[in-house]
Amino acid sequence: MSKHAKLTDDTLLELLRQRADRYADKVAFAFSYNGDGENTSVLTYRDLDTRARAIAAELQSKGAAGERVLVLCRPGLDHIAGFFGCVYAGAVAVPVHERLAPRLSSVVPDARARFALGVSETQPGIKTMLDTLGEGGDLNWGLMDAVTADADDWVAPDIDATTVAMIQYTSGSTTTPKGVVLKHDNLMRNMEAIRSSWNGTDSDVGAFWLPSHHDMGLIGGVLSMIYLGCTAHFMSPTAFIKRPMAWMELLSTSAATYTVAPNFAYELCIEHSTAEERAALDLSALRTAMNGAEPVQETTLRRFAEGFAPAGFAREAFSAVYGLAEATLLVTGRPDPASPRVVHLDREALAEDRVVECEFPAESMTLGAATAEAVSGESTTSGAMTVVGCGEPRAGEVAIVDPVTRVRCGEGRVGEIWCAGSSVGAGYWRRPEETEHTFGASIADTNVGPFLRTGDLGFLRDGELFVTGRCKDLVVIRGGHHYPNDIEFSVQGCHASLLSGRGAAFAFTPGLRAAERLVIIQEVDVDHEGAGDADALAEIIESVRVAVADRYGVDPHSVFLVDPQSIPTTSSGKIQRSRCRELFLDGSLSPVARWQTPSAADD
Ligand code: ATP
Ligand code: MG
Repeated sequence: MSKHAKLTDDTLLELLRQRADRYADKVAFAFSYNGDGENTSVLTYRDLDTRARAIAAELQSKGAAGERVLVLCRPGLDHIAGFFGCVYAGAVAVPVHERLAPRLSSVVPDARARFALGVSETQPGIKTMLDTLGEGGDLNWGLMDAVTADADDWVAPDIDATTVAMIQYTSGSTTTPKGVVLKHDNLMRNMEAIRSSWNGTDSDVGAFWLPSHHDMGLIGGVLSMIYLGCTAHFMSPTAFIKRPMAWMELLSTSAATYTVAPNFAYELCIEHSTAEERAALDLSALRTAMNGAEPVQETTLRRFAEGFAPAGFAREAFSAVYGLAEATLLVTGRPDPASPRVVHLDREALAEDRVVECEFPAESMTLGAATAEAVSGESTTSGAMTVVGCGEPRAGEVAIVDPVTRVRCGEGRVGEIWCAGSSVGAGYWRRPEETEHTFGASIADTNVGPFLRTGDLGFLRDGELFVTGRCKDLVVIRGGHHYPNDIEFSVQGCHASLLSGRGAAFAFTPGLRAAERLVIIQEVDVDHEGAGDADALAEIIESVRVAVADRYGVDPHSVFLVDPQSIPTTSSGKIQRSRCRELFLDGSLSPVARWQTPSAADD
């Protein structure tokens, strides 16, 4: 046993030490690149503790205690060991994905770290990439697979719940990623919030493809598994993107009981699998499949549950969750095994921020057979936006507040989601003004606070949170509030060649004094039947225009159909609408087909 300084039981350090004591030779993490068990590397709880102590001893010998340390390597066991090496050294871990130049070029200069951890195989390449970007020249590198320090040289640092554990960068969906300062207490409390959202125990088994440099993969995956003392199986995110069903196969072979991923990942599994492939799996052990990080689509839940029923998947396993990096990860979730609640909201009322539920589809379907086919028989209505409930607050208070007057919204009104509690981070790294604005909000009439302004819109119904969209992305036309996520969903229902989850709707002003107009950019698969020639594409665009006019009363200014993979997304796969607007404005999109309003109609 190493030398002991003061330890508390509410730090990640103490957590892993206790787990290593209790679960010693139990496998904590197994990683195989394709998730197929080939070349699996394994870390037991004791191994992880030993590796973390050795890495920490090296960091300590360099004087990195209390300093920020970039953890720059591909997702996998080294990344996890490196993260805990930082924790054990009393340093501040800054996990970053090593391969993505745009993310590196914003995160590395912002973090202002003097230390970095890498692995021999990829560190030289990362260093070259950073040199090219003109960053990281003075970083003091350590190689996690070539640690010379001995685990027994580690000295437990003097840390407690209030010590900063990490800087977690936001996904960068709306702006450049911002670093959120998280203390040990934030992380410990959020892990408990996550646990309480599915009542996990140490006999549960996790299986994930999410990268461990990202909040959902790190906190919802890695840390949550350690918190419970579970075994977790990981595969490479790259392998998942190449073949999404590899994730389902990993869930099946590992008899996993828990997983977590954004909605698009479940969608990909439906799109890229055959009935035979699905039936060959056994997902009957899976009791919790969390879905969050982006809008949860009812059609995805339904199609997935139907498609994977022959594999023993139960719809009740779906657990819709809501959260954000500023609140560590999870804000709302639901522990009871019941299908997520779904509401259909009247679009006209919603445009005025009023929540009016439609018992039945308000209008019959108007979009023809192609729509029905694309959404697999869904009774889409032109009058309703379908929203999936994300459970109850599990990490503190959630309030719905008018973002302008800062007064709580009454029942039945949409407002900004504000949250408070011990999971809310300490603020943004090196951004005092944004920290004050985002983390220091108070309710105007009662002065209650501080609250975190999430920048998301939604409402509470019977204690459950329903998220409608983001404030920043809201399309405001003639005073009406339209949700781009809903518009994109409607667009994608217009023809089976329009790729689901791969569109962007945003507003722009075509000229001085001109009114805001709607632009739609949507990826199309031109190899799909009925989308092969210019006439077919023009017809698809026409049905998009009709659908949007019908459902939102808005005539789009422009509809662009673009090739697959040309819409910018974050490294975690989220659509970057403001980046799309930039590309549209500077004319750098190359659509395969387009429609634009005649310029005279602009003013
Ligand atoms: P950035 O803040 O850098 O623009 P980001 O907000 O996407 O990026 P994250 O903190 O990783 O970065 O993601 C949190 C956001 O994801 C939430 O603020 C919300 O907009 C969205 N989100 C998370 N869960 C859900 C959900 N269940 N439904 C709808 N949106 C969700
Ligand atoms: Mg955000």
